[in-house]
Amino acid sequence: MRYISTRNNKEEYSFEDILLKGLADDGGLYIPNQVPSLSKDDLSEILKMDYQSIALRIIKLFTQDTFSEAVLRRMVNDSYKCFNKTEITPIHNLDKKTSILELYHGPTLAFKDIAMQLLSRMIEEVLSKDNSKASIICATSGDTGGAAVASFAGKKNIDLYILFPEGRISEVQRRFMSTSQQNNINVISIDGNFDDCQNIVKSLFRDKSFSQSVNLTAVNSINWARIMIQIIYYFSAIAQNPKDKKNPDIIVPTGNFGDIFAGYIAKKMGLGIGKLVIASNVNNILERCLNTGTYEILEAIQTNSPSMDIQISSNFERLLYDLVNHDTKKLSKMMDELAKDGQFSLDEAELSKLNSIFDAGSIEQIETINIIKKIYNQHNLILDPHTAIAAGVSSKNNYHNSIILSTAHPAKFPQAIKDAIGIEAELPLKNKNIFELPEHIKNMKNDMSLVKNHIVSNFKR
Ligand SMILES: *Cc1c(COP(=O)(O)O)cnc(C)c1O
Repeated sequence: MRYISTRNNKEEYSFEDILLKGLADDGGLYIPNQVPSLSKDDLSEILKMDYQSIALRIIKLFTQDTFSEAVLRRMVNDSYKCFNKTEITPIHNLDKKTSILELYHGPTLAFKDIAMQLLSRMIEEVLSKDNSKASIICATSGDTGGAAVASFAGKKNIDLYILFPEGRISEVQRRFMSTSQQNNINVISIDGNFDDCQNIVKSLFRDKSFSQSVNLTAVNSINWARIMIQIIYYFSAIAQNPKDKKNPDIIVPTGNFGDIFAGYIAKKMGLGIGKLVIASNVNNILERCLNTGTYEILEAIQTNSPSMDIQISSNFERLLYDLVNHDTKKLSKMMDELAKDGQFSLDEAELSKLNSIFDAGSIEQIETINIIKKIYNQHNLILDPHTAIAAGVSSKNNYHNSIILSTAHPAKFPQAIKDAIGIEAELPLKNKNIFELPEHIKNMKNDMSLVKNHIVSNFKR
């Protein structure tokens, strides 16, 4: 298994190389040069396994000899010990047509925990081989930051930097990050939106002498390992789904296109999945692209599903690599256009390929509130606003056999829940202390040099 950049497939890398780099030097994203395909026998064997065994099997395919069998097993077991459910990602039926895959039983109650718990252990393991140090950076629209803090807090030889858009995340999201008392954690609020935070991260990586000097590593979903780890629960979903429900459509609340791209890889590996459905709020750049063929950046709009208030879906570049038939020159040109003009267009063949695999739908804020209300009244179940959007898209597009990915616990977004059904969504008992602990946050202007100086001075310490 070798990896290449979406913008240059002539050079190949090992999993270990790309684990610690995140973004490629040419600005592209790393992807496997070939996705392993599973035989019928392999598949039916995997679909009988429990979560941890599926994880071992899938990860081994993508990491090869980076970790010994024993080390990998230890990391997987440790990662999921702190989850509230033994199935890790349990599935249950909402009604005859729809199931819900719950991805929020980790320490910070969003699906980001699933990948981050294991990713932090992989990074720690690789660094320990030569006792080197790393600076980890991550832009967050709310949930990635908390998951990263929970997984990297106290890890040796690692400093973590979280950038989040000031005032644009929920209090619970913020407190999951800011209440860590470990001094390797740096939580920074940026005067700007999520895309500004993400752009700071990207420009820090482009500054090669800097990024090399502090061993800068990205743990956003631009890091391939996150996507790789998320492939596992698509297998777990199908393993848990009733056998007569073949090839379900999977509806994914989508922002940066990381989660749903993992589903795309699972499907390429041979897993029985119908359509992959992109569910978004009014920030619906991908839905517009599916409809018109033009991927056009508009101003990001703040909504009650803040983890999807994103205009640039970075991981879409990974799919584009397949859509342009691995023509890296063409893809680089499209990305240059995007940077220059804020848009690019797909040709007819690319667009029809896109639409043959994906569907899309979007839900406005008021509708989201109504969906939360309706599901609560009908099923006595509280959905978080992101999951509610997926449920809304499911009924709007009238899927007959679908799995909704539930990406967060409702208590992470108490205001939306209150607006919908007038009650407080309760945090699990073990998370309640975030309201008592002191917060540690630095505020900075939207200026990459301020972040850079902060990292440099910490690294010298
Ligand atoms: C991050 C996040 C999303 C979006 O996932 P992507 O991988 O960025 O598409 C959706 N819902 C919640 C709750 C999230 O935290």
